[in-house]
Amino acid sequence: MRTFNTINETQTWCRDHKRQGKSIGIVPTMGYLHAGHLSLVKESRSQCEITVVSIFVNPIQFGVGEDFEDYPRDLHKDSRLLDEAGADALFAPSIREMYPPGYNSYVEVSGEITEKLCGRSRPGHFRGVTTVVSKLFNICVPDMAFFGQKDAQQAMVIEKMVRELNFPLQIVRVPIVREADGLAMSSRNVYLNPEQRRQALVLNQSLQKAREAIAGGERNAGRVKDLLCHTISTSPEAKIEYAEIYDAASLADVQEIDGSVLVAMAVRFGTTRLIDNLIVEV
Ligand code: AMP
Repeated sequence: MRTFNTINETQTWCRDHKRQGKSIGIVPTMGYLHAGHLSLVKESRSQCEITVVSIFVNPIQFGVGEDFEDYPRDLHKDSRLLDEAGADALFAPSIREMYPPGYNSYVEVSGEITEKLCGRSRPGHFRGVTTVVSKLFNICVPDMAFFGQKDAQQAMVIEKMVRELNFPLQIVRVPIVREADGLAMSSRNVYLNPEQRRQALVLNQSLQKAREAIAGGERNAGRVKDLLCHTISTSPEAKIEYAEIYDAASLADVQEIDGSVLVAMAVRFGTTRLIDNLIVEV
């Protein structure tokens, strides 16, 4: 596996492969890799001839008081995991490489899709995401980009950006990878103490309850939301940031559940913020 730290080398290498007619898949990450990330790498390898993984803890998508400084990092281990997983290149730039002094260009998707859920609780977050992802697309010239359903709203925002700004590539969403007991894999799970780790199971449990209620005929979104909140609240350490049901394509409000809905939540355990979601089709 090749490892690059500069934009220039990465762009040159990717363009060379493109000129040779190779298809390129990109997997953008913030590192501290787990099986969820590696499933994106596997998917990229199955669909593209060249897979480039980026590792960059992007400061502009973190708000003041968020965990940018504390975000877990282990580039050495990540590099080994990517090599074993068969990635062709790792792009791991410094902050200065991505945002040199005087940097002033941003990409922003506005409207409902970035104003709800994480957009509401993390102002400026998606602007940071769409900016860095646009830069990565221009650097790596991918034919396909792989994103996890774990960050469902992020995938929606990027799909909209790609559509509206005519990026010549396809976005592929990859299902959520979970621990054996149902907790969605996340780099942030390492922050949880054993008791919080046990209580965090309530996220997936509440999603399963919502799924069962809808499968059983419940169509009132308010009642399903109450069920979610009630289930999460059985964990004494859980502090709900949001637990919502929206249209899965647009994030429009939903009163009566119909078509495809996104059931999404952000819950804090101490200082650790976890997200999880489920798409339910009726
Ligand atoms: P992150 O490093 O947290 O920014 O995540 C990088 C990519 O991996 C994003 O597209 C995430 O949605 C995806 N991802 C993170 N956790 C999981 C998971 N448990 N299952 C599938 N994809 C994931």
